[in-house]
Amino acid sequence: MIKIEAIPTFQDNYVWAIHNGRSAILVDPGQAAPILAWLNATGMTAQAILVTHHHHDHVGGIAELLEHAPAPVYGPARGAVMSTAVREGQVLHFEAIPMNFKVIETPGHTLDHVCYLAGNERDDVSRLFCGDTLFSCGCGRLFEGTPAQMYASLSRLAELPGSTLVYCAHEYTLENIAFALEADPDNPDLLARHAAALQLRKQGKATLPIPLSSEIKCNPFLRCDLPALVVAASQHYKKPLNPGVDTFAAVRTWRDEV
Ligand code: ZN
Ligand code: FE
Repeated sequence: MIKIEAIPTFQDNYVWAIHNGRSAILVDPGQAAPILAWLNATGMTAQAILVTHHHHDHVGGIAELLEHAPAPVYGPARGAVMSTAVREGQVLHFEAIPMNFKVIETPGHTLDHVCYLAGNERDDVSRLFCGDTLFSCGCGRLFEGTPAQMYASLSRLAELPGSTLVYCAHEYTLENIAFALEADPDNPDLLARHAAALQLRKQGKATLPIPLSSEIKCNPFLRCDLPALVVAASQHYKKPLNPGVDTFAAVRTWRDEV
């Protein structure tokens, strides 16, 4: 039986632990202490570490973690702690976890950003570990890539089956919804997601994972080809914008301003 748990680190990061009760695959361990405490408390061993990109809040805990819990590290080539560099289309397998982890390169937030799509033949639901590329009702800031790169990356993710469960690296949902409601105020699915997310946070629960189908209906960055977003962004910047990357670039800049 495979379980996926969120280990909170820093203010709002989640390290996703995919485990069978004995061994765990850890995604983006930015901080060692909470992970070591979790491994201790559960009696589990780290089987592998997966990294989505080189930012400190995603890799900062690896060196210390390896001192106590040696495990192979997979991730983009950038960053000294990576022991195995991964590439687009590569599929990773791990002994204890009967899932394939397919690498999807998603440049934009950083140029080296990758996502991992996990699944197996028996399970009709895939799970997307998307780091800082896709957030619930938001997306990562463009630190290194261009709007066109990020738009292409998000568009690829949006083509995955709607049942795909999205595991983002941050709990940014409510902040993202506050902005999304400015850009897309009449979206009933967004209003429903807002109510559900408020309820979850009130109970101290994560708003993740979330099915991709919900993001398609709610996330303004996945809706930049739709009239509502094109019109809203065009009005905000007082210039006509084209659907697609043009609108995406404007909505991303708009988000950075609030
Ligand atoms: Zn980042
Ligand atoms: Fe981050």
